[in-house]
Order: sequence, then C-alpha cells, then structure tokens
Amino acid sequence: MNEGQKYCEFCGQDHKGIFYSRGSNYTVLKCSECSLLWSDPLTDDDYEKQINSDYFGEDIYLSKEKNQKERFRDQINKVLKMLEPSVEKDKIKILDIGSGLGFFLDVCDEEGIYCEGCDINEKAVQYANRNRVKTRLGTADAYYEDNSFDIIFALNLIEHIPHPKEFITQCRRILKPGGLLVLETPIQESLFHIIARAGDYLTGFKMNNYGINTNGHIYKFCGKTFEKIAGSGFEIIHKQKIGSPLKEIMGKTTYMSFKNRIVLKAVLPVAWLTARVLNLENRIFIVMKTVK
Ligand SMILES: [Zn+2]
Repeated sequence: MNEGQKYCEFCGQDHKGIFYSRGSNYTVLKCSECSLLWSDPLTDDDYEKQINSDYFGEDIYLSKEKNQKERFRDQINKVLKMLEPSVEKDKIKILDIGSGLGFFLDVCDEEGIYCEGCDINEKAVQYANRNRVKTRLGTADAYYEDNSFDIIFALNLIEHIPHPKEFITQCRRILKPGGLLVLETPIQESLFHIIARAGDYLTGFKMNNYGINTNGHIYKFCGKTFEKIAGSGFEIIHKQKIGSPLKEIMGKTTYMSFKNRIVLKAVLPVAWLTARVLNLENRIFIVMKTVK
C-alpha cells in the first residue's frame, strides 16, 4: 500500500499539498487551506507490518498500564460531565476505537460505565479480551448502527489512519444526537514542532523531526484543521493541550539518525519543561459535539 496523496484529505481536490519537508522515501505536504500536514505517499510497505505486528507483547506497553489508566480515568470523568444532563449515567454507551490492550475498557468497567472497543490489531484484541469479550477486530464501520453511542473515544489514533475524513463521517453516523467525539493527537501548535521547523528550515530540510512518516503518524493536525473537521456536523466544545511524558518522547528518538538523536537528547528536557509553562505541549485533547 503506497498510496500517493497530493491533495488535502479534508479540503478536497482543489487544495493541493505544498512542499513542507522531506523524509527518506516520502515528502511532507501541507494544505494551503487548513494547514494539515501529511506524508506523500501516505504509507509504505512497513505500514501494514506495523499494524499487524505483535509489538503489544512488549513490556513497554504493559509497563505504562498504571499511568495510562489514571490518564484515561481523568479523561472519562471530564468528558462525562460534558454530556447533556438528560443522559442517565447507567444508560451511557461508549465506543473506544483503537482500544489496544483494553486499558480504557478496564477503567470503564471499574467505573461501571458501558463501553465496547475495537482495534485492527488481532493480537491486541486477543489480549484485551482475555478476561471478558468487549473488543472486536475492526474499526468505525458498518457493524455499528446509526445513532447508537453517546461517546466515541479515539485517542492517539486519527494521525495513523490513511483516510481520517471517512473515519470522522462514520463517527458522526454512529453517534447519537448530542453525542461526543473525543480525539487526542499530536498538534502543530507545539514548542517541539516550532523547534523542529526551525531546525529543518536552517538545515535545508535535512532535519525532519516532525514525527510524520509513512509507517507511523501519517498526519499532523492543527487548530485550523479541527475547525474544518467540525464543519461536517460537529461543534468543538473542549480543547486542551497535553504533553507526552518526557520518558516516552525520549524513547521515540531511537528511530532517528545518530546525529539527530544527540541534538535532541540535549534539547528535549529543557523544551519539554518550557512547553509546559507556555501551554505549547505536543498534543491536543479535543471534544466535539454533534450538531443537527
Ligand atoms: Zn486542508
């Protein structure tokens, strides 16, 4: 699957991507309308391998379980308060798309909230279902009925999907009127991105550290893109910057070249703290409510 993508997924054929940077075997393009960034081609041969790999078995994912669950618990409780007061707590239905190892589902169980999950990684689905079956192999597709869920969570997912517009359309269909779509994704309005842009520009586009590539994060969103997305049947009711834990960011530098890695390891801890202070952290947590 090496799909070329010359125009913006959300703004359509009239909005061709303009050059932003380059990678080893791809170009990073930017939409002149909504500023979305993406890799062209969208994916490479390793993309499918990544999706189907059994990397979930690695200790690194399980070692994050406790912190991850605490984060999910905070997020769930925050979003529940955003539902219309008429929705009764014991009737709330949540769908967790890209449910991974099922940590989010575990938290919902503990909180007594109905939740189902889905994921396209078979090994992850097996793991999530080891004690009880609440996850199916799949994504936001025809399996789910129209107007059937109160909240959809898709955390750290949308940047991986080759066609996020279709994904959003499906979410809109599955959600009940007044339902909430909750997304978390890396964002361009971050200090890391600003530093990466400066470094890349000064080196003649030889330092692409935006975290965009053809087998990981295919897209990088920004505020303008979300306004565009909201135009298709949503209103944005909550936006919040969140930072990845420093340890996690440092870990992600391993795929970079040795030279880039040395520079980053020196800069990252200072940048991480500064980003926190300036509210320029690297991800956004955004809640969109369906409108008629
Ligand atoms: Zn666009």
